Amino acid sequence: MMNRDYLIKAMDNDKQVRVFIAHTTAAVEEAHSRHYTSATASAALGRVLTAALLMGSDLKGDNDVLTIRINGNGPAGAIIASADSQGNVRGLISNPEADLPSHLPGKLNVGDLVGQDGYLEVLKDIGLKQPFTGRVSLISGEIAEDLASYFLKSEQIPSLVALGVLVSPDLSIRAAGGLFVQALPGAENQVLEQIEANILRLGPISDLMKNHAALEEILQKIFEGIPYSVVGEQPLAFKCTCNSQKLAMVLAGFPMDEIYDIYRSEGKLELICNFCNEIYNYQPEEIEAITKQKDTPFLSRQIHETGGRF
Ligand SMILES: [Zn+2]
Repeated sequence: MMNRDYLIKAMDNDKQVRVFIAHTTAAVEEAHSRHYTSATASAALGRVLTAALLMGSDLKGDNDVLTIRINGNGPAGAIIASADSQGNVRGLISNPEADLPSHLPGKLNVGDLVGQDGYLEVLKDIGLKQPFTGRVSLISGEIAEDLASYFLKSEQIPSLVALGVLVSPDLSIRAAGGLFVQALPGAENQVLEQIEANILRLGPISDLMKNHAALEEILQKIFEGIPYSVVGEQPLAFKCTCNSQKLAMVLAGFPMDEIYDIYRSEGKLELICNFCNEIYNYQPEEIEAITKQKDTPFLSRQIHETGGRF
């Protein structure tokens, strides 16, 4: 019944606390089916995708992009997720097949798959010359805790972060979602404690999603005893920004004789988008036509943006 991904933002009427809550099952499933992630890798990537969507919903401009990069030097390698202000997200994990046994029944070992020896970085490209960047050392590699540390240290916002991904035995995504609770300047302890107690009573976020609780109902429980209003709502989706033309520009950055060599030895000219695993095929003549009209500075920018691979 709840196969629609969406997000709701709410605030108490005295503007002391704001809550972002998202249902991301379909987006995480799309990432899983595109990247062929193991159970633990799905949980790790799914948590980062969900976090990026929650944070992206706070961007103001139509072209703004927020990117979370995590690398804890664990078996997962790097995890990257980028979201825009319209609720679209794309992402990748360096080693999608990596997996680890669970220490606890029913709990995927995301912390060890990500690792703890590294960083979490947030980049906000909001049309300024230099994108905003914040970076913190990882605490547990479980992502929610690391993100709460980022909010506190880098943005000075005390936050409670919950991110959950529930993977079925057949590796499909049964439920995914996330929650941010952020204290606004001047928030009273009494209100924060009340909300914290309400949230403790809720249980794990992935259980709520699994039981198909509507986000509106969960919000009511979070704000129990505190008058609040919904301040925003948005549909969410996994959607990449790549297209055939953009990735053709990557190929056009190579010398034409190399392009023809690859085409002759491989029998095809193929590029795969890192973020969505979409495969694009070209004829060498198409690439040659682009190189004849190309303008180099624009080209190098395109390569930087798309980051394709053979
Ligand atoms: Zn793509």
